[in-house]
Amino acid sequence: MNRPFGLYSDLRPVEIEAILKVAPIAYVPWGALEWHSQHAPIGLDSVKAEGICKAIAQETGGVVLPAIPMGVNTIKPFKGFPHSIDISADLASRVAEEFCLQLADEGFKVVILFTGHYPPEQIDALQVGADKASSAVDDTHFEVWADLHFLGDDFQADHAGATETSFQMHFVPGSVDVSSLPDRPVTLDDDGITGGDPREASAERGAEQLAVVVKRAKQRLDEILKDINLEL
Ligand SMILES: [Zn+2]
Repeated sequence: MNRPFGLYSDLRPVEIEAILKVAPIAYVPWGALEWHSQHAPIGLDSVKAEGICKAIAQETGGVVLPAIPMGVNTIKPFKGFPHSIDISADLASRVAEEFCLQLADEGFKVVILFTGHYPPEQIDALQVGADKASSAVDDTHFEVWADLHFLGDDFQADHAGATETSFQMHFVPGSVDVSSLPDRPVTLDDDGITGGDPREASAERGAEQLAVVVKRAKQRLDEILKDINLEL
């Protein structure tokens, strides 16, 4: 039986309460406002994280919050690209901690911070927040996930490359323009791109990537439910 799921900001109280009864799981997508080269939107990481969380929640039940666009160590300080809003690790940790604590207070037993922006500094910042919440609350499990962790060897995690661009094309058709890329191989220094060439991206590939991530995420969620003896 499929457990119910919903987008937290779209739900009325009675709907949240119905989900809480059978699937007290909250997914907090974590994104960024960050240069993703000429061909892709600034909010790619948020779109990706929210889209992936919705797909996971359809399988596991639970609620999905709106994506939080707070990227730590964006490509702006790293390589000087514009249009990025860079957030300090301390602030991101605080926000992560407070979302965790508030969602626990609302009755959620599993809270997943899912980040689509995944330099080590970002993952560390969210982990610090989750750890602080864990030390303050006994009966809710907090965990940090990233698509990076679930892609495995099937697809290369990248920045604005073929993999991220494929996710964007899958989640928001028409939002990518690879014709705006220069007529030469793309690089990190010149274009702010890592991984495969975004001209190899497609919406179909994005759907395949999503299936891989959802399958592994669902396995991990099942392990967590078993570990904390939560029978849903
Ligand atoms: Zn990205």
